[in-house]
Amino acid sequence: MAKSVYVHIPFCKSKCLYCGFFSKPPAQFDTQKLLNAEIEELKNSSFAKPVKTLYIGGGSPASVGSVALCGFLSEITKLTGQPEEFTVEINPADVNELFLRKLFEISVNRISIGVQSFNEDELVFLGRRYTPAQVEQTIKTCKKIGFQNISIDLIFAVPGSNLNTWHQDLLRAVRNDVQHISAYSLTYETNTPLEKIKSLGKIKIVNEELDRLMYERAIWLLGQEGFQQYEISNFAKPGFECRHNLTYWQNDFYIGIGPAACGYIEGLRTENINDIEKYIEQEDKAGEKTEIMPVEKACQTAVLGLRLIRGIDITEYKQKTGFDIFELFKNSIDKNLKLNLLQLNENRLSLTQQALPMADSVLSDFAEPD
Ligand code: SF4
Repeated sequence: MAKSVYVHIPFCKSKCLYCGFFSKPPAQFDTQKLLNAEIEELKNSSFAKPVKTLYIGGGSPASVGSVALCGFLSEITKLTGQPEEFTVEINPADVNELFLRKLFEISVNRISIGVQSFNEDELVFLGRRYTPAQVEQTIKTCKKIGFQNISIDLIFAVPGSNLNTWHQDLLRAVRNDVQHISAYSLTYETNTPLEKIKSLGKIKIVNEELDRLMYERAIWLLGQEGFQQYEISNFAKPGFECRHNLTYWQNDFYIGIGPAACGYIEGLRTENINDIEKYIEQEDKAGEKTEIMPVEKACQTAVLGLRLIRGIDITEYKQKTGFDIFELFKNSIDKNLKLNLLQLNENRLSLTQQALPMADSVLSDFAEPD
């Protein structure tokens, strides 16, 4: 039974240059109808109540307005019970103190802010709708209200950036005294305006070497400042790891509610339709189901588990998947151990420090059995 629920609110008032997510302008839709439809979907879903984690993401959930969002969240928690970790993603452009206070009053206990950068030029380039000062004000307000678990997302390797600008960005993030930082390299998703201007040669992209140096700088600087890297791209003060995302990386069950939301439960991956109107109309909102065979589950558990810095517990892996990881991936493990990209310590298999900047290529060895 799933103990984690993800709810997708697919609205954003404008589209960021790099965005490959499913999100639409709220003004073009009856947002209340969508929220009602999501409550219906949740009512027909099975999960263990009270859930451990509830994550409201998007899109920009706050773009539907405070009254609609808070009313919706109250209905949701009537169904899920009070989650131990209750996260809402916010865009600093969509919230004010009153809005944040209402979220706090309905027991939201984790705020995830899509900051992306503290550099004004980068924010403009990325198509974000706020200034660094607004970000800092939002963080300050969250703290004043009483939120004690604040996460921010940052993007590095933005065209025009260098090691120094990224270092300054990290320092500013740290100075804001948040508990959790996610740091991702800018990706050029297909069919985004960013990809288009790249293919037209209109921007100078950050080269691989600088990208790697920026990533290593984040690991070093955040480590110095008391953040523990617990996943390839995620850093937390002790005790503030994102429990909801740990569900994904541990390949545990969760349900996904809303258009384009994905879930994983009892051997099935689910994916909801990525069309808001059709989703509202559909009687059965539970999306397409794909059966996951035991060996696929074993591969997915390995790929996801190796994203965690602590890696995979060999005994737990066997209990969870039914496979011996050394039999299933003998060649891949041997090869990567010899290359010093994997390490085996106290019954745990994990990426080495050296492997982190090229993690995707190591993980791809575990996408299929040897
Ligand atoms: S806020 Fe997020 S989901 Fe919305 S357009 Fe920007 S990147 Fe996409």
